[in-house]
Amino acid sequence: MQVIRLEALSDNYIFLLYEPEQNIAAVVDPAEAEPVLKKLKELKAELVAIFNTHHHQDHVGGNKQLMQHFSQVTVYGGAEDQGRIPGQQVFLQQGDRVEFADRIGEVIFVPGHTRAHIAYYFPPVQPGETGDLFCGDTLFAGGCGRLFEGTPQQMVDSLSKLRSLPDNTNVWCAHEYTLKNLQFALTVDSENPDLQNRYNQVKVSRSRQEATVPSLLGVEKLTNPFLRWDKPALQSATNSHEPVQTFARIRGMKDRF
Ligand code: ZN
Ligand code: FE
Repeated sequence: MQVIRLEALSDNYIFLLYEPEQNIAAVVDPAEAEPVLKKLKELKAELVAIFNTHHHQDHVGGNKQLMQHFSQVTVYGGAEDQGRIPGQQVFLQQGDRVEFADRIGEVIFVPGHTRAHIAYYFPPVQPGETGDLFCGDTLFAGGCGRLFEGTPQQMVDSLSKLRSLPDNTNVWCAHEYTLKNLQFALTVDSENPDLQNRYNQVKVSRSRQEATVPSLLGVEKLTNPFLRWDKPALQSATNSHEPVQTFARIRGMKDRF
């Protein structure tokens, strides 16, 4: 399985999962249909699945048009999103599995950004290889999603689940927000050398208009303040040793950044 990153709208990423041997593809969060249709045409591949992480328009905007082009496509989303995802046929819960080509994805329920948000984790085929996490707007490179429908407690629980995955996991998040996220991160974790290095690298990448997604989960654990509510630097920046309160304060500071 290859993952092909497509740009959409102003700063969204759509991910195409592609299996050349069977000439099939699946798409994660088609913000719009055109870039997906264009790439599928180029690959001469058939779309067999749409994997949605949550109901926001910039993640499901292409569903209907893709369904018109590929009548056999199956549309997946979270069980709690019933009625909110156009064309949804499969209603997934924590621990459910989805299949694509030779890979099996595990569904992780991650409410917080929305009350129904799910992530898809595809473990590596061989031990030692890199796994793939499609986390929508829950975890971003250097940041996390805003809490539109969830509580800080829910988001901490959700991010804890993602934080427990192996370091060697590609984080395929749905927006190019990394530079701004790391600028904020430095305001709450300024002495962190891994964060300083990452910021410098990302600054160069963005000045060349290169994508910063995927990132590696191991790097997120070292540099993303929203996975570091239990680290002394973040506790002192928020003046709190209580994990959920620490997280909530970091989130509040980012909302005002
Ligand atoms: Zn969203
Ligand atoms: Fe989004």
